[in-house]
Amino acid sequence: NVVQPPPPVAAMAELKLSEMRDLTRIERIGAHSHIRGLGLDSTLEPRSVSEGMVGQTSARKAAGVIVQMIKEGKIAGRAILLAGQPGTGKTAIAMGMAKSLGQETPFAMLAGSELFSLEMSKTEALMQAFRKAIGVRIKEENEVIEGEVVEIQIDRPAVAGAASKTGRLNLKTTEMETVYDLGAKMIEALGKQKVQSGDVIAIDKASGKITKLGRSFSRSRDYDAMGPQTKFVQCPDGELQKRKEVVHFVTLHEIDVINSRTQGFLALFTGDTGEIRAEVREQIDTKVAEWREEGKAEIVPGVLFIDEVHMLDIECFSFLNRALENDMAPILVVATNRGITTIRGTNYKSPHGIPIDFLDRLLIISTQPYTEEDIRRILDIRCQEEDVQMSEDAKILLTRIGVDTSLRYAIHLITSAALACQKRKGKLVEMEDISHVYELFWDVKRSTQYLMEYQGQYMF
Ligand code: ATP
Repeated sequence: NVVQPPPPVAAMAELKLSEMRDLTRIERIGAHSHIRGLGLDSTLEPRSVSEGMVGQTSARKAAGVIVQMIKEGKIAGRAILLAGQPGTGKTAIAMGMAKSLGQETPFAMLAGSELFSLEMSKTEALMQAFRKAIGVRIKEENEVIEGEVVEIQIDRPAVAGAASKTGRLNLKTTEMETVYDLGAKMIEALGKQKVQSGDVIAIDKASGKITKLGRSFSRSRDYDAMGPQTKFVQCPDGELQKRKEVVHFVTLHEIDVINSRTQGFLALFTGDTGEIRAEVREQIDTKVAEWREEGKAEIVPGVLFIDEVHMLDIECFSFLNRALENDMAPILVVATNRGITTIRGTNYKSPHGIPIDFLDRLLIISTQPYTEEDIRRILDIRCQEEDVQMSEDAKILLTRIGVDTSLRYAIHLITSAALACQKRKGKLVEMEDISHVYELFWDVKRSTQYLMEYQGQYMF
């Protein structure tokens, strides 16, 4: 009983790679774009400032140990809980873990509260997040490369005029060695010599030298002149495609979206992906498993970061428990700043609002509030990242603001102060620019105070 693949998968057989190839990732200066790793040395000790990371040394070290275990294949199906106050770098650490697993390791991020939307069920949203954190490295050979022929092997004694259908041409290139099937393809640009269909070429196996003998080839004369180590090949018809291995990197989610609807490619940009049918995913998984077997694809498990994990309910936790059993599962990093609280969807209380069976899977890392010096260094890094020149006084003031309000708020002020400076045609962000935007944009503390003072005038 053979099941015919439905249209999406038939289309996927061609991989829709051309579409994927054009998928440009738009790099922006995001809140964490300065994070390039965990900043550890070879013995996993945290360097004080490295790879965009500052302070938080014990958490970074613990994260590094986990990354090491993941690399050595020692842990799977586990998750990590980052527990600490807001703005203590939980997201930064999760991202640092992804980066230190490899630059192309996918990193997906989700806040617990985002799961509860009307557009899709919470388990679908979780499933999409999981698949955003699973990378697929697909190898494709198709591009033209220049190369120098070093050897042609043919499966029959080299007889002039007898083109081998099963011969293998070994092209040595600057980038890699590639073996091509001669098949019915014409050999072109061999050692810079143009050859045509029907031409005979001789290859000296010892030196790799290629001689074009053309059509006036005389077996006895040329063979004798060139010696026994020479192989003769007649160029077959067609064109020899000089191929190069091209590697595409996509996530399972991208494959899902592209194959789940006609305008799939656009949906990737708009984010309007809708629910993806389970059958589509199953077929994609089967296809990817085939590619893996054929050596065409490799799975790169990434990092999925779920912030505000206490917002998840019991159904979400049981989904996570199951999803972690999958052999393609990414590393799950969850974060919360809650202590003992009620597990959503139940009447039970538990640490961090997380059910006991899920807690059991977790390795817990705690993050500590930053010192003034740490805040100053993070602000320095962010100024560099955003290409903002700031005077020493302004930096001192901004650090003070960071200590009194929050690191996040101080980071936000960098961009707006730079704009204020630009407006007055200044080159260097000064204290006046910082004070200006501090007055313009309120931090949570001032905003709360205002609310308390004028409570009566708001409607509740
Ligand atoms: P929340 O709990 O509110 O989500 P968080 O603990 O995840 O906060 P982050 O968002 O990671 O905190 O940190 C706030 C900002 O400070 C981000 O821009 C982050 O990249 C930066 N940051 C935090 N910790 C560090 C650090 N140790 N080194 C460098 N940058 C950091």
